[in-house]
Amino acid sequence: MERVHNFNAGPAVLPEEVLREAQADLVNYKGMGLSVMEMSHRSKEYEAIINEARDAAKRIYGLGDDWDVLFLHGGASLQFVMIPMNFLPEGKIANFIHTGVWSKKAMAEVKKLGKPVHIAASSEDKSFSYIPKTYQLSDNPAYLHITTNNTIYGTEWKIDPDVPKDVPLIADMSSNFMSKPIDINKYSFIYAGAQKNIGPAGCAVILVKKDFLATGATNLPSMLDYQLHSKNGSLYNTPPCFTIYMIGLVLKWIENYGGLAKIEENNKAKAKYIYDVIDASNGFYRGTVVPEDRSLMNITFRLPSEELENLFISEAKKNGMIGLKGHRDVGGCRASCYNALPLNAAYDLAEFMKNFQKQNG
Ligand code: PMP
Repeated sequence: MERVHNFNAGPAVLPEEVLREAQADLVNYKGMGLSVMEMSHRSKEYEAIINEARDAAKRIYGLGDDWDVLFLHGGASLQFVMIPMNFLPEGKIANFIHTGVWSKKAMAEVKKLGKPVHIAASSEDKSFSYIPKTYQLSDNPAYLHITTNNTIYGTEWKIDPDVPKDVPLIADMSSNFMSKPIDINKYSFIYAGAQKNIGPAGCAVILVKKDFLATGATNLPSMLDYQLHSKNGSLYNTPPCFTIYMIGLVLKWIENYGGLAKIEENNKAKAKYIYDVIDASNGFYRGTVVPEDRSLMNITFRLPSEELENLFISEAKKNGMIGLKGHRDVGGCRASCYNALPLNAAYDLAEFMKNFQKQNG
């Protein structure tokens, strides 16, 4: 069977080469007579797998020895609560730039701990259709937290924001992790659920500056303690072994592709196909985001009516394009174009959109 064009928001499309490699390894990994799923996480073979994934992440972002990479259970959502537990001491305030559902959920977790939150900037006034360009920190900020790509609203930070030297920048990069080069040294802590750009679900990848990590709380419950996970090389308990193996394969794919600059080039080309159709449609397709903040990853748009949106989604499916329904909180349509989505998938969607408009406009 042909593979569909998969525009799902996450879990999402993976590189076909990676799936085929995993398939070939599935029953008998490198002649060991067992699969990665059946292997001890304490074996030297598994150690090589997790070390390779860690090293590849470091190479891709050019991280030096002053950074650590962690692979942890619990997805991005667990980081919403672990971050304040580890890095928000008494007397300090968590600062957020509020750009949608995910920053709201992250702030809610801080509040559940009974800790203070300050909204340094927000785009809620215009239904999260833009990225705030300025912000105002509170006194005694523990850190500034941003969401670099807003999966539901379709906005993306195009810069790595400047922060005062003594304020650590923390970023939820779940939906644009490893999709473009970034100025890594502006950040102290980056996290992402794997299931969009770098693997299947079941794991969060964390990039953390070691000096920032060392400022974290101790005496936390073990599984919630970043320093403990770091000391144990993400093997304090049984990690999501197979997901980490898959992440390793995807990271190798990114490197073979030519790294983040090449990946970004391809992501820009894909997004351009679709945004160009939106912009040339005389308002038949309405982008929901101000043009300068449009996401390369999640392209959100409306049609003239909900009936047409439903027809668009079902006709697209008949044409082998799936996952185009917008998030249930906002409705409309969304084409998620993560790294592994092939260029021809975005091209085909753009052509489909033009034809759909001709027939229904
Ligand atoms: N942050 C962002 C930006 C997301 O898009 C998502 C998932 N869609 C999450 C956090 C939550 O991720 P997880 O399901 O891995 O907890």
